[in-house]
Amino acid sequence: MMRNVNTLHEIMGRINIEGVMRTDEPMDRHTTFRVGGPADLYIRPDSVADLQAVLSLLRQAGTPILILGGGANVVVSDAGVRGAVIDTTGLSAVRRDGNLLRVESGAMISDAAEVSVQHGLEGLEFLYSMPGTCGGAVWMNARCYGSSIDDILESVQYLDENSELQTLTAAHEEFDYKKSPFQLHDWTIVEAVFRLRPGSVDELTARMRGYYEDRLSKGHFALPCAGSVFKNDRRFGAPSGKILDELGVRGMQVGGARVSDLHANIIVNTGTARASDIYHLTQKLHDLVLSERGYDLEPEVLFIGEWESVLRTTTTASPD
Ligand SMILES: Cc1cc2nc3c(=O)[nH]c(=O)nc-3n(C[C@H](O)[C@H](O)[C@H](O)COP(=O)(O)OP(=O)(O)OC[C@H]3O[C@@H](n4cnc5c(N)ncnc54)[C@H](O)[C@@H]3O)c2cc1C
Repeated sequence: MMRNVNTLHEIMGRINIEGVMRTDEPMDRHTTFRVGGPADLYIRPDSVADLQAVLSLLRQAGTPILILGGGANVVVSDAGVRGAVIDTTGLSAVRRDGNLLRVESGAMISDAAEVSVQHGLEGLEFLYSMPGTCGGAVWMNARCYGSSIDDILESVQYLDENSELQTLTAAHEEFDYKKSPFQLHDWTIVEAVFRLRPGSVDELTARMRGYYEDRLSKGHFALPCAGSVFKNDRRFGAPSGKILDELGVRGMQVGGARVSDLHANIIVNTGTARASDIYHLTQKLHDLVLSERGYDLEPEVLFIGEWESVLRTTTTASPD
């Protein structure tokens, strides 16, 4: 393991914040796939000021930083994460301000949707029951049921690479299908402001129930997963799930990772999956589509942490 325990303890000694700070934190506790080895350092600040202080200090010390929201779109390596994981879920305030909803980055986006509907505000309900935080949803420009988060985004407050607070207005050309400017910079989202409109609480509640039931029927909550494995690509003429389905991949398995029986673009953890199983199954699906259809599918799920050492040992012992 490439880390210096003394340096880690020295850094921890200099961090003086409320919230949680631990070494060797198993990341399977913090990801919806329920896989992932230990993070050298795991920090969950409780306030924006503490987040800012931690970022500054870690940067000064040259410690690699990984920002984690709900862990709903990631596969953390079995070898874990070298450096520090900063978990944003301690920042969870949601405040109404007229037709605006101000949501801190670590609030669950589904909870924010529910709050907006309780206030009779329409626009955010399409994200009800989608796992993950507001920060993760903005970073991914999450999309479902025909809407993307940038459709309702007014502005985003973030800490830049110098840990200074900045504001980005949503009329930013770098938002696109599952793309946001945050993917191009070392920026940490602190708060998003959504522009909503008055709506009927009963209608919006019924709509949210419909989205939840749809996800339930597609098995989204049956087994640990991270939603769609591959992005859709208009050039391929059909959603990735349909392309994969035509190739009969449902039930395909590597170790404890299996293509869902209910949706060909979802991999599930049957209970014993390692992150490397998910990696190899993703690779297998990608290569199958490339060889059979000539389409180079782009993974939507992010493989994060220390993969190099894992792939060096598993490529020879791979079950496929
Ligand atoms: C059952 C299920 C269904 C899903 N359905 C959908 C769907 O319909 N549509 C869809 O788009 N996605 C879907 N997903 C994927 C996932 O819910 C979204 O991508 C979600 O937005 C991820 O949020 P998160 O907080 O978990 O992000 P994480 O997985 O924790 O992180 C994702 C990326 O965002 C970065 N990040 C997170 N927070 C911040 C921050 N505050 N500042 C800077 N960077 C940050 C991380 O560094 C990482 O690169 C689904 C997942 C599951 C498990």
